[in-house]
Amino acid sequence: IQKKFSLAFKNLSGKGKISEKNIKDAVKEVKLSLLEADVNYKVVKNFIDSVKEKALGEKVLESLTPDQEFIRILKNELIELMGGKEPEKLVISRNPGYIMLVGLQGSGKTTSAAKLAKMYKEKGKKPLLVAADTYRPAAIDQLITLGTQIDVPVFSGDKVNARKIVKEAKNYAEKMLHDIVIIDTAGRLHIDDDMMKELEDIKNYIKPEEILMVVDSMMGQDAVRTAKDFNDRLELNGFIVTKLDGDSRGGVIISIRHVTGKPIKLAGTGEKIVALEPFYADRYAGRILGMGDVLSLIEKVESELDKEKAEKDAEKFMEGKFDLNDFLAQIKQIKKLGPLGNILEMMPGVPKENVDLKKGESEMKKMEAIINSMTIKERKNPKTLTFSRKKRVAAGSGTTLQDINKILKSYEQIKKMMKQVKKMGKRKFLGNMKK
Ligand code: GDP
Ligand code: MG
Repeated sequence: IQKKFSLAFKNLSGKGKISEKNIKDAVKEVKLSLLEADVNYKVVKNFIDSVKEKALGEKVLESLTPDQEFIRILKNELIELMGGKEPEKLVISRNPGYIMLVGLQGSGKTTSAAKLAKMYKEKGKKPLLVAADTYRPAAIDQLITLGTQIDVPVFSGDKVNARKIVKEAKNYAEKMLHDIVIIDTAGRLHIDDDMMKELEDIKNYIKPEEILMVVDSMMGQDAVRTAKDFNDRLELNGFIVTKLDGDSRGGVIISIRHVTGKPIKLAGTGEKIVALEPFYADRYAGRILGMGDVLSLIEKVESELDKEKAEKDAEKFMEGKFDLNDFLAQIKQIKKLGPLGNILEMMPGVPKENVDLKKGESEMKKMEAIINSMTIKERKNPKTLTFSRKKRVAAGSGTTLQDINKILKSYEQIKKMMKQVKKMGKRKFLGNMKK
């Protein structure tokens, strides 16, 4: 398939814009690839349709074909759908904080409970594991064994009544000053009303801050219904997807995310107790899509693009054409890359101690709001900002005249620095930029 796909691209060197016609092959191949990754077919259709709608009419990048451009857009949408580039954290603010793990039998609840306990222990917390799976007798022993390995106590009460075990565990945790309580619950092979009732009771009693469903990444198509059922009954906070160390492409991730809208917070990547990681969507998006060749080509083009833009910015900067529009663009960039910081750091002769980037970041938001409140013309020529215009901008951005003057001053300072750098030689500066 991969080969056929690349061939199809060669025939389509048409630039211009994405149209229904010029991405026909890519749409077909992506669909197939996602189905092969075991993404639910309805999810595949919905997702591709929505990306198509967004992509139609978009300009195609210089070095890509329309097909490749479509896949580029689709991959970025996929990362967004999977929760964006930054992993979602568990939010525990109470003391003790409660985490409850739910899911089908064999999904990895007990293993993940121990992994979580270890993770928190390493952060200096004092976790307690609660064995509330009374459905399978061996389950409690399994958790006790794991608890012993990581030196975390396991509360198992009468080992019979899950509701009672959790109630007693709460008292125990408070008495023993545990700050994190992780509850392992019973699963079944299929969704079952008794199980759900028990989980609902436990949830209503303990009101966990994090109720996470553990999902086996090899589960395939059934994941959609199961995740939906669990989420409908228990209002999940998110998922732990396990067994991502295996062969599965991880299509389950898209399916469950798409039907519940809840984030994947953690990834299980092995049987060992250390194999639990924050979930990085961009790592898994590529894996789900497969299409190795195409994706690496697109990545290369994207990184070239970033480099080109940085060079262009630097060039503009050097020529003194750097206005407040560019300033705003830089502020937006700095959030993800920190290029203003880089630029300042690379500038010879800028005293480093004057560049407090941490403090800069909080100022950054204010700057953004202020520049956003200016007209394009004002941004191009800040000298036109009269007193009354400044007053308008202050009102619009919820800041003060002093704030605005401060920003204009730092903009002027940067311009001044630019001139200094220019004197020192453009060549040297751009040379540094390319490193
Ligand atoms: P539970 O029934 O939901 O409590 O599932 P278990 O925690 O008992 O796990 C079922 C099986 O999956 C066990 O053999 C675990 O070792 C295995 N397992 C759990 N998580 C992972 C993982 O991330 N990777 C691999 N390879 N195996 C896992
Ligand atoms: Mg278990």
